[in-house]
Amino acid sequence: MIEPDLTEEARRLFAGRVEFLKSAPALKFLPEPDLPEIAFCGRSNVGKSSLLNALAGRKSIARASVTPGRTQELNFFEVGDPVVVRLVDMPGYGFAKAPLKIVEQWRRLIRDYLRGRQVLKRTLLLVDSRHGIKSVDAEMMKMLDESAVGYRIVLTKADKVKASELEDVIQRTEAEARKHPAAYPQLHVTSADTKLGMEELRAAVLADAQL
Ligand code: GDP
Repeated sequence: MIEPDLTEEARRLFAGRVEFLKSAPALKFLPEPDLPEIAFCGRSNVGKSSLLNALAGRKSIARASVTPGRTQELNFFEVGDPVVVRLVDMPGYGFAKAPLKIVEQWRRLIRDYLRGRQVLKRTLLLVDSRHGIKSVDAEMMKMLDESAVGYRIVLTKADKVKASELEDVIQRTEAEARKHPAAYPQLHVTSADTKLGMEELRAAVLADAQL
């Protein structure tokens, strides 16, 4: 349970300063590890940019959709003044046609970041409500399981499926989450369009940042 006080604090926090800090194409470009980080990952097109924008209550802090050639970077955003947490937009995965070399680069960057980043408090794994957990997500969960950082599963685009289908994907995804000790047992069901689940997710991010 998230406390009402925290919900209000989170609302105020995200209504304030949220700004792009930098892109890191390799570990040596990461910001100083002096503030808590919460990372967001998921398949390309899962709705990650839209979710980040909805969390921040604005239209374009995160670029919606992929900019060619800039897909293999960790993008950092700062929240709060003074900064309370950094949000880390991880490169989307699951391009059907990505060359092996790019996939390998992606894997190395993500794995090294997840393993070595002491200020990383939690990762949010975004899963499209229409699709549920796919094999590429399962691969990501494996990397997360090995990283010793807990993760939350966030269903995106909940407005795109019927209530009965949503119930079904929630059941299936929760059953899958229970098999992963590093996965938080409760899902977040969200829509960037209707803002479903945003208040709770902001509070969860703040709670995780305070871990
Ligand atoms: P990213 O590649 O993961 O950053 O995904 P984007 O945020 O660019 O979203 C991919 C597509 O899904 C875009 O066409 C968005 O408009 C759409 N989309 C994202 N979130 C939602 C949502 O909550 N509801 C609906 N209906 N569409 C969404």
